Amino acid sequence: MTIVSINPATNETLETFSPINKDAVMAAIGSAHDAYQSWRCRSFEDRKDKLLKFAQLLRADADTYARLITQDMGKRISESHYEIEYCANIAEFYANGAERFLADQPMEVEGTDAYLHYEPLGVLLGVMPWNFPFYQVVRFATPNIMAGNTVLIKHASNVPQCAKALEDLFAECGLPAGVYTNLFIPSEFVETIVSDRRVQGVSLTGSEPAGAAVAAIAGKNLKRSVLELGGNDPFIVLEDADLESTVEQAVKGRIVNAGQSCVASKRFIVVEAVAESFLSAFKEQMAALKLGDPMDDDTTLAPLSTEQAAVKLLEQVQSTIDAGATVILGGDRPNRDGAYFNPTILTDITPEMPTYDQELFGPVASVYVVEDEAAAIKLANDSSFGLGGSVFTSNIDRGRRVAEQIETGMMFINQPTRSQAELPFGGIKHSGYGRELSHLGILEFVNKKLIHVG
Ligand code: NDP
Repeated sequence: MTIVSINPATNETLETFSPINKDAVMAAIGSAHDAYQSWRCRSFEDRKDKLLKFAQLLRADADTYARLITQDMGKRISESHYEIEYCANIAEFYANGAERFLADQPMEVEGTDAYLHYEPLGVLLGVMPWNFPFYQVVRFATPNIMAGNTVLIKHASNVPQCAKALEDLFAECGLPAGVYTNLFIPSEFVETIVSDRRVQGVSLTGSEPAGAAVAAIAGKNLKRSVLELGGNDPFIVLEDADLESTVEQAVKGRIVNAGQSCVASKRFIVVEAVAESFLSAFKEQMAALKLGDPMDDDTTLAPLSTEQAAVKLLEQVQSTIDAGATVILGGDRPNRDGAYFNPTILTDITPEMPTYDQELFGPVASVYVVEDEAAAIKLANDSSFGLGGSVFTSNIDRGRRVAEQIETGMMFINQPTRSQAELPFGGIKHSGYGRELSHLGILEFVNKKLIHVG
């Protein structure tokens, strides 16, 4: 097993890290468990001071952290900067809000005094992906640390520089040893950790197979789990949408993070009255994207995270083309070093084709032309995923009506799906379960204890 940072813009190896063995994993669980005994008793004020310091440290050295993200997984440097600032916001959101989110909740029972009292659960494991290597970890770790839990992190094996930097940051902000621990381990060790009786739950963000494997382990051991898996977000364009801004948002929604976001817009479902105009403007703007070095501010389309990711995406696209889909743009990789993929638009996709119900992690848009609003809703719901989605219309009431009929965890009107500290994030169907961010995110791994006065 290798834990190695390879710059996907050049395929150059930057740094290699050694995995730890099972004895070291057991020692880490022990230290997280010991830390929990005192961390759970600390005041909110005390925990808050540490996380506010964490946010301050992130901002103070944002350039360094942004560069690590771009080196490890190839994101455009401006997007890496945004990610660091967003992480600081999330840390502040939970630092400032946790006491209020976890305040006792009186129950409405006539004539008696009953309330919910929130308590931490203990040691938790976070299994994290590489696509937002700081954000995904911060989204899981900060609410749980504020709640009084302690966390172990198994980060994706291709973003070790970020994993190490996060561990250093959480130590530097003053968290006692054992409250936050990075584990350089292969995924086979996850079972050992989740089945340990000192560990109370696991949260995974990643692919369906990884989610199913970890959920099975959690189930077998009766441990709580939260899963944030893939998405195939619909982007519905109705005939009364403002086409100019809709197309702009369509490009933005598809190529965020070079298309490697679970909530990127992936299926563009356009009613036929505006299909031709949408497609021609969309093609023009996708074709104008500039592939290049992610460290260069002029680049508008970065490489994918790894060479393997680009190879996998090409297989998915090629098999769809072989099955009869029409290529409007791209469909292939450019002739240059690095994990690059050309901006691509496919149409005439039918349910038998691989991309119909698979997540495409890259700058590949699937465009579907449908007769009307009802057909758009039907197609949007014909997916095994149910993460986010958007609808574009100049009639907000109509937008709400459509949004309420789409089977996803999040719907956005006149904007692509996005994430914000104050808003719950999560899906249904094969996109997983549980919610992160907002006040809901801090309630996933706490004991909602009933106290009833007789
Ligand atoms: P994975 O799901 O394989 O990786 C995500 C995390 O899960 C990593 O830390 C990985 O560790 C770990 N992991 C993988 N398999 C297991 C397992 N059986 N038991 C325990 N942990 C496991 O994602 P990939 O990087 O392979 O990406 C594949 C596809 O997944 C993408 O193309 C995309 O469709 C989807 N994906 C979705 C994400 C999202 O944001 N929802 C994020 C990333 C991917 P390790 O790195 O050591 O294998």
